[in-house]
Amino acid sequence: MPGMNLPPVQIPVKALEELFDLLRIPSVSSDPGRRGEVLRAAEFLAAKLSSLGFAARVDATAGHPVIFAERSVSSSLPTALIYGHYDVQPEEPLGGWSTPPFEPTVRNGRIYARGATDDKGQLYAHLMAAQALLAVGDLPVNLKFLLEGEEEVGSPSLGDYIAEHREALSSDLIVISDGSRFAEDVPTITSGVRGLCYLEVRVRGARRDLHSGAYGGAAPNPIAALCALLASLKDASGRILIPGFYDGVLDPPESELQSWSQLPIDPASWCASIGIQEPVGEAGYSLLERLWSRPTLDANGIWGGFQGPGSKTVIPASAGAKVSMRLVPGQDWQRIARLASDYLRAHCPAGVQLEVEVLHGAEPVVLPVDSPAVQAARSALARVFGRPAQTVRTGGSIPVVADFQRLLGAPVILLDFGLDIDAPHSPDESFAVADFQRGILCAAEFLRAIAEQR
Ligand SMILES: [Zn+2]
Repeated sequence: MPGMNLPPVQIPVKALEELFDLLRIPSVSSDPGRRGEVLRAAEFLAAKLSSLGFAARVDATAGHPVIFAERSVSSSLPTALIYGHYDVQPEEPLGGWSTPPFEPTVRNGRIYARGATDDKGQLYAHLMAAQALLAVGDLPVNLKFLLEGEEEVGSPSLGDYIAEHREALSSDLIVISDGSRFAEDVPTITSGVRGLCYLEVRVRGARRDLHSGAYGGAAPNPIAALCALLASLKDASGRILIPGFYDGVLDPPESELQSWSQLPIDPASWCASIGIQEPVGEAGYSLLERLWSRPTLDANGIWGGFQGPGSKTVIPASAGAKVSMRLVPGQDWQRIARLASDYLRAHCPAGVQLEVEVLHGAEPVVLPVDSPAVQAARSALARVFGRPAQTVRTGGSIPVVADFQRLLGAPVILLDFGLDIDAPHSPDESFAVADFQRGILCAAEFLRAIAEQR
């Protein structure tokens, strides 16, 4: 049996205490007034990694610093790179917190603090795994850490940093623990993330807002034009009508769909959990396919005209909307941006002018479900949870996954220790103490399993 003659790893005695010290630092990357706190969190982690024998440095970027740390054992061993982020979301709204966001508190077995699960708790599990392995010998692999401080503001410096430090970052696999597993008792490896294409659509009519009595009937109405445009994007069955939109879309293999059908999800309770009557979306696709492997198009905001109390008889001069599309493997976000812009222009009603601005995008990624690294993750999860791990996808987007694959060419493993009920980004964010501890054990067992494959 693999790993039988290795000494068991023990959770470091001060693991929780040290995580609390990290959680007390309000490293909110979006707040210019907390630059110093973000730096303090970086220095805290670099000092910890140094104390574990890593060559650790805090590298300045145009924004918040990147921590790079490395501990080499032997050139004959594989090298793993752990990615995480030490910045956090703002704590607002403060009224939603039962205890202060930067004073970690344990209630009912859960650590409540901003960053508890996203991502300080999950990244610290990897540091503690390194410490636990070092306590019973040497690391089983060469290990590198890349920890950024700008994830919550869209990682503006990370792509350049990776491109400039390719050599230092070279590795056989990259591990990210920054998400949620499927359910409390379902350990999972995430094998796909959707991409994103985000547009802003603006429609202009007359030079100024007009009296709807004096001009109504002959003046074009930008709100009506915008609504017609948005409505033209999908048919009644939810199919997106942009020509070429679905070209190249790769369906998950039958074996993957088969494994999704075994996952414990009930559409009725899923609907109840968000207070709706029934799911929408494309007929012929399961709920999980709609959420994970089908592309989407949604308006995220809409504005225009009079919105104050009472009435005002006016034909507005302009209206606008934010529109985003989640993309799946086979789609290229820049091509989709072009197709969508062309379609909107072709369908713009007469009498108004249209502007389409592409705000940003991210490529979809699908990761292999049976690579050696995934097998190592499966065996680590099975050892720690005592039940087999499943592969799932997420409907969200993690732009850094595509960056890693493109720039470093190493396989990425998404090994999530959190749960959706941890409420990342929300008040009362939390992380179960048991999940922190299982995360430490999983991360350690994973590195051992990688080493055993050699
Ligand atoms: Zn995160």
